[in-house]
Amino acid sequence: MKKFIILGILFVFTYPAQVHAQDDKNNGGRPTNETKNNDFNITVEKVKDSIYMLKGKGGNIGLCIGKDGAFLIDDQFSEATSEILTTVSNLTRKPVQFLVNTHHHGDHTGGNKNMNEAGVVIFAHENVRKRLLQELMKIHQDSINKYFENEAEKLKNQGAPEEKIAEHAKQSVKETGMDFTPTENIFPMVTFDQEITFYYNDEQILVFHVQNAHTDGDSMIYFTESNVLHTGDTFVNGRYPFIDTDNGGSVDGYMAALSRIQMIANEETKIIPGHGEIASLADVIYLQSMLTFLTSRVAYYRVDGKSLEQVLSMTDLTQEFEGKGFGNYFISKDKFITMLYQDAVRKYPTLKKKKN
Ligand SMILES: [Zn+2]
Repeated sequence: MKKFIILGILFVFTYPAQVHAQDDKNNGGRPTNETKNNDFNITVEKVKDSIYMLKGKGGNIGLCIGKDGAFLIDDQFSEATSEILTTVSNLTRKPVQFLVNTHHHGDHTGGNKNMNEAGVVIFAHENVRKRLLQELMKIHQDSINKYFENEAEKLKNQGAPEEKIAEHAKQSVKETGMDFTPTENIFPMVTFDQEITFYYNDEQILVFHVQNAHTDGDSMIYFTESNVLHTGDTFVNGRYPFIDTDNGGSVDGYMAALSRIQMIANEETKIIPGHGEIASLADVIYLQSMLTFLTSRVAYYRVDGKSLEQVLSMTDLTQEFEGKGFGNYFISKDKFITMLYQDAVRKYPTLKKKKN
């Protein structure tokens, strides 16, 4: 009987936009020459040859069209799926055959369920699948906890003894939490460990994993013929990056990912960032210099005994980047400096400079 009630509760839950989802609505009011498609505001920009960038509310979508079909990178939010597919069908009569998730965040995978239902085959690093399952498990666990909180409240009102309430909750969570099978198919059907190559639309499309950068499931996608690289969120243009340390991301891994980009890209490479405008190698080098500078300065001040509040008040540290509008997006200056400070605390938990 209890299980029936739990199932009833679970039906109410659908896969939500993730907490970490980045919203690109705010483009600083810049005028664009993009083609507006419709009311969900999906816009199309030609990157090179038959490769396009689709923008909307979530992460930048990559699209490659050609004789074999349509190849997508990321799918934003579930509400955008039909607009995305309409946009693709305005550019090619071929259907979307393959989709790669650059990582698990909901602003890049929110359309997975719809895409799966539409017959698109989704590929991603194996940790993307693991993280998506974990997040569904968490929603499931939260709904169970909520249910038993209410149950406990009821028992309490009926005057049941404390031990009975505690025993009841413990027992039931154990019983119901174990046999959870997700009913929503939001998962990549094909996963890989290091890399996978597509020979498609006369391109060699190399999809490769970079370790512990933005998350622990990041991939970049390189189109060798067109010299176009989609970086996912391992690179964002003109803003502070989000490094999701709760999901396996790390500052050092993020730096290494930016170096990987520079091993592949040359001055002609068109780079589709996870968020922001189409970029070039110079933009990547600039972001890396910003990250190197701030990481080392924040770590220096931390070892020098400065508190987080003191470092946050050093506005000259970030003046140059604030001047370029880096803090106007998902990650504010304070959030970014706090993340770097916590990274320094992890790296140097006890180290203190000797005063002289
Ligand atoms: Zn992300």
